[in-house]
Amino acid sequence: MSLRPVKVEGSEEGLAITWSDGHQSFYPGPYLRGSCRCAECMDEWSSKRIVTPDLVEQGVYPVGGDVMGQYAIRLTWSDGHTTGIYSYDYLRSLCPCNQCQAEYAEHR
Ligand SMILES: [Zn+2]
Ligand SMILES: [Zn+2]
Repeated sequence: MSLRPVKVEGSEEGLAITWSDGHQSFYPGPYLRGSCRCAECMDEWSSKRIVTPDLVEQGVYPVGGDVMGQYAIRLTWSDGHTTGIYSYDYLRSLCPCNQCQAEYAEHR
């Protein structure tokens, strides 16, 4: 069974997710905003980032989110960005905790 969020909470600090396996992730706003993979934030052909956590507005945070089917969430940001779709797999791989970073580093 693939992982999915059971609880998603946005705040001015960032986004908190509780996963179906009980794991809790917290993503600081600029980190998550700067990891957006939409066509505006990432060049589709070269996969080169146009936007990075260093380039986004300081203190940017998620103001809303829509679940897209069974696999992803679309976030609306305080800087007006609305086209970022984050798959659950991608979100989990972005989890900044030591445990996830160690686990996903092995698969890179
Ligand atoms: Zn984007
Ligand atoms: Zn984690």
